Amino acid sequence: MSTQILEREKSEVASSRTREPRRDEGTNCPDPASKSLAGCMGYPQSAAVIEIKDLRVVYRGKGTGQPDRTAVNGLSLSVQPGEVFGFLGPNGAGKTTTMNVLLGFVNATSGEARLFGTDVREPIARQRIGYLPELTYYYRFLSAEELLRFYARIFRIPRPETERRIDEVLKLVELEHARRRLIRTYSKGMQQRVGLAQALINNPDLLIFDEPTSGLDPVGRMKVREIIQRLKNEGKTVFFSSHELGEVETVCDRVAILHQGELKVEGRIADLVRQHQLNLEQIFLKVIGYV
Ligand code: ATP
Repeated sequence: MSTQILEREKSEVASSRTREPRRDEGTNCPDPASKSLAGCMGYPQSAAVIEIKDLRVVYRGKGTGQPDRTAVNGLSLSVQPGEVFGFLGPNGAGKTTTMNVLLGFVNATSGEARLFGTDVREPIARQRIGYLPELTYYYRFLSAEELLRFYARIFRIPRPETERRIDEVLKLVELEHARRRLIRTYSKGMQQRVGLAQALINNPDLLIFDEPTSGLDPVGRMKVREIIQRLKNEGKTVFFSSHELGEVETVCDRVAILHQGELKVEGRIADLVRQHQLNLEQIFLKVIGYV
């Protein structure tokens, strides 16, 4: 995923984010505790945060003789507010493609995808999202706080709120001590955490992370896990892909396993373990036909 696409997307999102709140948002919220969640953000409280129905994505073959490639085939799943959802599958299973549909980067060939009850083709559907791509390419000559100011400007966050948000997210990802250091001097783990800070700058309700712990050492992975746990405690919904089944078992409420573009298994981990009489790794290997 290129940074340019992300930036273009964010500016599109920003224009919808700066709209005036509707009269039924915020102040008239019947349940103040739910303000950061569905009910008071302008979508029905019963709505799933992510709703995918019979999604199919076919990449057309380019040039003569290149076959079409079906990346996602008949995928249906939903993610509820406040859930941490693990999106699993071997390389090439269709995870990134599905995320790209949710983010509006790839068009579905058929089927439906909704965020907070709104079709993903409408930019407003993505206004409450934070996204961490699998590969991050940030301006390495900027410091963390400069990078975050840059993203805050894309979201048109007012200056005083920007500084408050930067303090908040840098504290969450434990990078306060390095906020003025150039990103190019950061370790891989620190770069991943600055990526998480970027994804959180607009205080989103839904976080979509594509392999957030890929390439991190055990300490780095543990820190990302802790951040996901803290986000869950704040009532955020987290949808992330991962190949680290141990960490998925630790942080996820539910998982889905995709194979060759199709949903093979979905459910609460404890239920799946009971049902299959296998641990998550064994279930994964069985589903993909390895054992
Ligand atoms: P990984 O775990 O390796 O990141 P993934 O589960 O995210 O894999 P995708 O990247 O969604 O899988 O790829 C699904 C299928 O679609 C693969 O066969 C891949 O080669 C194909 N694919 C992905 N992007 C494109 C594209 N832009 N054009 C053509 N085919 C693509």
